[in-house]
Amino acid sequence: MTESSYNIKPEFISDRVRALPSSGIRRFFELISNMDSVISLGVGEPDFVTPERFSKAAFDAVAQGETHYTSNYGLPHLREAVADHLERLYGIRYDPRNEILITIGVSEGLMLALMSVLNPGDELLCPDPYYVAYLPACQLSSGAFVPVATGMENSFRVSAHDLEAHCSERTKAILLGYPSNPTGTQMTREDLTEIADLAARRDLIVVSDEIYDRLSYGMPHTCFPSLPGMRERSILLGGLSKAYAMTGWRVGWVCAPAELLEAMMKIHQYIIMSAPTPSQYAAIEAIRNGEEESQRMVADFDARRRLIVAGLNDIGLTCFEPHGAFYAFPSVRSTGLDDVEFAERLLLNEKVAVIPGSAFGDCGRGHVRCCYAAPRASIEEALERMRRFVGSL
Ligand code: PLP
Repeated sequence: MTESSYNIKPEFISDRVRALPSSGIRRFFELISNMDSVISLGVGEPDFVTPERFSKAAFDAVAQGETHYTSNYGLPHLREAVADHLERLYGIRYDPRNEILITIGVSEGLMLALMSVLNPGDELLCPDPYYVAYLPACQLSSGAFVPVATGMENSFRVSAHDLEAHCSERTKAILLGYPSNPTGTQMTREDLTEIADLAARRDLIVVSDEIYDRLSYGMPHTCFPSLPGMRERSILLGGLSKAYAMTGWRVGWVCAPAELLEAMMKIHQYIIMSAPTPSQYAAIEAIRNGEEESQRMVADFDARRRLIVAGLNDIGLTCFEPHGAFYAFPSVRSTGLDDVEFAERLLLNEKVAVIPGSAFGDCGRGHVRCCYAAPRASIEEALERMRRFVGSL
């Protein structure tokens, strides 16, 4: 916790913010920041630098004076590029004029979606384990977060049956994030079709965070709103951070029917105005001409995925095969340690950083998240150190 010498009263901070959980990941990064030569499988971002051509498009735009606000919706050329991109990949067409909003990453899109949809007390179903921002975003939107348990026996896939078992009079929406952070789970089209049937039957909205859509290995990605009948009840969140190595540029998009998009625009226009202009130019280049670079990075992640999954299983840290994102989520139960003890002792004894699974919800307990978007040599060295650590227990 950050404290000054001013003795600030806790009541100066709103109840809303004081009620937010502190992030289990952040505590870990604070520990790491005080240590030297740590191999980090902790941070969820690509080790690649943004391909030079994407950056150059931003520099060129700035040199030409493109340093002003853009339309609140984002640059028209970028919205057209996003529309074409989604149509090419998933056969779904959004109107660039009023169904696409350029955001400051999926992070902003997530807040816009939940704040626009949830009334106080409305319930939001979400598969557990879940990305760390989902619960706070729901709380800040005055919603009630309802975790739906998943487990390794089913590769952490959520079933429509289990979602339905958690439905009540107050259920308003489902929040899906596949491929998943932290588990790397990818859903099949059949899985998602059953959830689509449930959403239609129960008249629910589905917020689908597809930030990892391009990072799907050996399994086609299904874009949730492209399923029959889902376009009119879905909010699609997407962006460039992961598959285009653009985390720091802060660009993403929200796609939804015009009425829903207008609701989100109402918030966006007051708190953001428009996504960073140079970043929007870089994004146009990435989407229009960056497929080759992106595919090269994805192929590299795939090779590292095989390396880490085989390595973890070999050490005895049972790991199901993750088909998406860039995370492996092995069980550490065989070591007799819980996930927090495991991660802390591994960090202190062997200087390898992984994230305790319980930072992502109750169902993450007994697992750790290992991000393999790290250099191959670091992954190999981390596996060696983990082998030594497990052997020493
Ligand atoms: N959603 C998920 C599941 C993520 O893992 C992340 C980043 O780690 C985000 C959203 C945030 O993405 P962005 O950089 O587009 O804000």
